[in-house]
Amino acid sequence: MKKRVLLGIAWGFMILFLVSCHSEKTAKSNRQTIRISQTKKDKKVTKNKIATVKNKKTQAKPWKYYQQPIKIPILMYHSISSGNSLRVPPAQFAAEIVALKQAGYYSLSATEAVKAFTTNSLPQAKCVWITLDDGYSDNYSAAFPILKKYHYKATINYITGFEQRNGYLTVEQMKQMRATGLISFASHTVDHLDLNELPAKQQWQELDNAKQTLDSQLNQNTQVIAYPAGRYDQQTLQLVKKCNYQLGLTTHPGLAQKSQGFYSLDRVRITPGLSTEQFLFLVKNG
Ligand SMILES: [Zn+2]
Repeated sequence: MKKRVLLGIAWGFMILFLVSCHSEKTAKSNRQTIRISQTKKDKKVTKNKIATVKNKKTQAKPWKYYQQPIKIPILMYHSISSGNSLRVPPAQFAAEIVALKQAGYYSLSATEAVKAFTTNSLPQAKCVWITLDDGYSDNYSAAFPILKKYHYKATINYITGFEQRNGYLTVEQMKQMRATGLISFASHTVDHLDLNELPAKQQWQELDNAKQTLDSQLNQNTQVIAYPAGRYDQQTLQLVKKCNYQLGLTTHPGLAQKSQGFYSLDRVRITPGLSTEQFLFLVKNG
C-alpha cells in the first residue's frame, strides 16, 4: 500500500516536472515570437521614418502667392557660340548659370512660368526663366551639357520649319533634351517671318501649325510662343489666344510682368562680353 502511494507521488512529480518544462518552453518560444515581431515592428517604424525624411527632402515647397504683381526676368539667349552680337560663348553661358545659382535663383520651366504668371505665385522669391530662341544645334552640344551639370532649366523657342536645316536641332535631340525634364520647348513659329507683315490667314498658319507640330512631335501642350524678331501686331495677340497659347514673349527689354499683357511679355537680352556683375544687374533690374 505504502509502495503504491510512493509510486503515485513519484508519478505526480514526474508529470508536474514535465508540464512545467513544457510551459517554460512555450513561454520561452512566446517571448521569442514577441521579440521577433517587435524587431519587425521596429524595422517597419525605422523604414517609415526614413520614408518620411526622404519625402520631406524631395517634396517641393509650396508656391507663395503674392498680393503685388510678380516680376520675372525672362533671359533671352540665341546661339551658344561666338561670332556676332547674338551669340553668347559657352564659357560666358556657364559663368552666368553659376552666377545665377550662387545668387540663389530658381530656374523655371515653361509650365512653371505659365503657372507663375497666371496665378501670381512663385516657387521661390528669386526666379529666372532662361529662354533660347531659334533652336540652334549648339543649344544641344554647348548649352545642354552646362544646364545638365548645374541642373538648371531652360526653354528653347523652336522654328518648326527649320527641322531639316543644318545647324538646327533635330527632333531626336529635342526629345532627348526634353526627357531630362530640364529643357522645355516653345514655339517660334514655322518660318521665322515678321508676323506684323503677314495677313491674318498666314499669321494663323505660322502660329497654329508650329503649335500642332510641337504638340504632336513632343507629345506636349505647347503653351508659349516667342515672336520672331519680337514683331507682332494687335491681330497676332488675338490669334495666339485663339491658338491656345498661354504666354507670348517679345524682345522688348525689361522684367516681365502682368501689366504688359500675358501675350506681350518683356525679356532681358543677354549679349556677349557681359561681366558677371553686369549680367546680375540685368537679371535683377531688366
Ligand atoms: Zn528668332
